[in-house]
Amino acid sequence: NVQYYVSEMNESVDEKLVLLEGLRAAIDTCAEDYPGPCQFQLLYQPKVDLRTNCLFGVEALIRWHHPEQGLVSPLRFIGLAEESGLIVPIGDWVLRTACAQAQAWRTAGLPPVSVSVNVSARQFEDKRLVERVADALRASSLPADGLEVEVTESLIMRDLGRSIDKMRELEAMGVALSIDDFGTGYSSLSALKSFPISRLKIDKSFVADLADSPDDQAIAMAVISLGHKLDLRVIAEGVETEQQRDFLRANDCDEMQGYLFSRPLPASDIARLLAGSAGDAHDPCAE
Ligand code: C2E
Ligand code: MG
Ligand code: MG
Ligand code: MG
Repeated sequence: NVQYYVSEMNESVDEKLVLLEGLRAAIDTCAEDYPGPCQFQLLYQPKVDLRTNCLFGVEALIRWHHPEQGLVSPLRFIGLAEESGLIVPIGDWVLRTACAQAQAWRTAGLPPVSVSVNVSARQFEDKRLVERVADALRASSLPADGLEVEVTESLIMRDLGRSIDKMRELEAMGVALSIDDFGTGYSSLSALKSFPISRLKIDKSFVADLADSPDDQAIAMAVISLGHKLDLRVIAEGVETEQQRDFLRANDCDEMQGYLFSRPLPASDIARLLAGSAGDAHDPCAE
């Protein structure tokens, strides 16, 4: 991911080493038997249906509360975790926590929403990935169709054959797959046809200037029509304004995610939204 690469280029080797030590320590704080608070937290950003306004799913986004540096953005540490291999235990924690939370909302009687989890290259290539996903589902009792895995095109293209096999295994378990940041990678259209996915996410870089840029409008419309021809749902990320939403809706985009509806929220706020007690007009999907 270019963003990660660039942000890491700006860190000195020393800064990276300090951050890496911090990451190792943070993982330890999230072990089940650790007495103190876990330094990682998941926030959940609502995904909304553009036709019904229903909140049908949430995306889990990791936050790191560093003891000295405060809140560290995933843009600063996911790349480092990826390089060092620490993404594997961190990703495992994310999977388990997200599945457990999604099931806890259900157990509390809230409308069932699916939870999506970002999986990066090293994690996806891990031999035990499918087993880890199955373990997280089993441990949480979350039905497999309550989980979605978000991968990027570039990740899939690193080893196309293997990636498709792995995606098929996840699909066979009942887990949904989506392509994140669509349009920023370079999967060939013929490869895309063979991905067992259910959703394309239009990258937020194409959404940002949607109201004024004819080029971005053309790209968004092309992705929507391509997605629909391949029988996929299309979601736009990074929707911040009503103009962006109206354009997407008018052009038949299925779903959206972004600050316009909601920032990523702690689990308790999602529960309030789902309970319909947040005092706004956006009701969760009726069953
Ligand atoms: P992503 O998966 O493409 O997630 C979307 C990012 O856009 C998130 O940034 C989200 O907070 C942000 N966002 C959402 N709505 C808006 C909006 O309306 N405007 C703008 N400008 N931004 C918006 P975040 O949480 O900082 O995460 C950044 C990236 O870090 C994610 O991009 C994902 O690739 C990675 N990431 C986050 N959590 C995890 C995780 O648990 N595991 C892995 N492997 N990667 C993660
Ligand atoms: Mg994502
Ligand atoms: Mg994305
Ligand atoms: Mg993105």
